[in-house]
Amino acid sequence: MILPKSNRLSDEQIAELTRVVSEFNCRLQPIVGAVRTIYAILGDEREELMINRIEGLSYVDRVDRIQSPFKLMDRRSDLASHQVKIGGVTLGEELLVIAGQCTIDPKNPNYFYETAAAVKEAGAQVVRGGVWKPRTNPYSFQGDAKSLDILMEASNRTGLPVDAEVMDEDHLKMALDAGVHMLQIGARNALNYSLLRAIGKGIAEKDTVVLLKRSIHMGPINEFIAAAEYIVSFGNPNVMLCPRGTSPGMDGYRNHPDESITPLLKEKSWAPVVVDPSHSVGKAAYVPACSLAAVAYGADGLCIESHVDPVNGIGDDPKQALTPAVLADTIRQAKSIWALRREAQ
Ligand code: PEP
Ligand code: MN
Repeated sequence: MILPKSNRLSDEQIAELTRVVSEFNCRLQPIVGAVRTIYAILGDEREELMINRIEGLSYVDRVDRIQSPFKLMDRRSDLASHQVKIGGVTLGEELLVIAGQCTIDPKNPNYFYETAAAVKEAGAQVVRGGVWKPRTNPYSFQGDAKSLDILMEASNRTGLPVDAEVMDEDHLKMALDAGVHMLQIGARNALNYSLLRAIGKGIAEKDTVVLLKRSIHMGPINEFIAAAEYIVSFGNPNVMLCPRGTSPGMDGYRNHPDESITPLLKEKSWAPVVVDPSHSVGKAAYVPACSLAAVAYGADGLCIESHVDPVNGIGDDPKQALTPAVLADTIRQAKSIWALRREAQ
């Protein structure tokens, strides 16, 4: 990782550095932070000769060699000062709440418009809505590209940014063309490295934010953070880590709740942690408690399924979605815990 003396390098300096690193079969990747740009050397940067040559350049302050599988996502990385922002919220400064339907019903768009308005009223700053859905049963409703228009119309009506899962490169292209603000990588694709790379490349020049779910079967914490590194290594550092419960589930819950990994994630990485209590416990009655636990564990945000009329929802909504009234109550309580935590810091 190259730290320049100035906040960013000139085109000539970048060209010179690019020439040096490519001699050693490495690639230079600028990572644009809020204040300064740092330059990652991707490849085997242990090559002493290359490091010596770079350190000899007048505009280079130093070269940091973080021997970590996720040198950009590492807490010690110079990217650690980067602040992820969405919906008027700077992660870490205010609790972020993403809320909305599991699945947009293309036959009943009004439910989604009403839900979007209701979650905004309840205090959410980002609206979520599933356009394409990963379903265990191949004969269940798989989502519909038409729902993308409904999602964007809800954004227009509420003025809030929107979040949707993309499962492949076609979805990615459609979502980016439509202007989706936050891309969700689902638990089934969280280790799909080709998709992670495609998303990293797709958002490299944009300010799109990614919500990376923890894989259903994801074991080691390092694997989770390294998956985020795949995206960030293309230049856009706006990634949030989302524990959402792992499998096998805890008896009675949909998955094994894992909001408790938040302090571990924060010890290793600077990335904001946004917990999804809905898929973790899988039943509306348990979601408020799981949300509060997540904030107590140090989460920067919550991603909660909510629907104005859950019984008439589709996908997970009939069993998991909170009504807007319960969502509003949960957000109120979560904010109190957030404030207590801040006081204690
Ligand atoms: C969802 O958010 O609706 C979803 C399918 O989540 P996950 O990928 O965590 O199962
Ligand atoms: Mn869902």
